[in-house]
Amino acid sequence: MAVEKIRNGGAWTEAEFNSRITSALRKVSSYWKPKQKCLKKANVSRGMYRCEHCKQVVPLKIWGVWKSGKKEGKPRKITNILADHINPVVDPAVGNISWDVYIERMFVEEDGYQALCHDCHSKKTKAENAIATARRKRENS
Ligand SMILES: [Zn+2]
Repeated sequence: MAVEKIRNGGAWTEAEFNSRITSALRKVSSYWKPKQKCLKKANVSRGMYRCEHCKQVVPLKIWGVWKSGKKEGKPRKITNILADHINPVVDPAVGNISWDVYIERMFVEEDGYQALCHDCHSKKTKAENAIATARRKRENS
């Protein structure tokens, strides 16, 4: 059964609507000063940043690979230092609550961010995803 397109005059499903709003908010957050400040603080020398978790000094960009799509497996430059929300925007143990809560957790002040290298950030994301998956399983059983 096709998912009903109930948003944007019948053009978007609820999931599309949510993903458009999320990416618009993410775009706004790139102008968020506390986030920029977090990266500035991690900058130790030209193009080099210290990860607040593993304490390694790493370059801003490294070579990675495309994870999906036509270019899958092909090399690409990836950002190696990220301003991470110490408390995830969506608590994986709780899930989505409302846009109010989402926005409140997304736009935190400087103490809400930590600079993480790509490796540490991926590990954290993987751990959070595992918690979210276990929660969804529980909720659906
Ligand atoms: Zn690290």
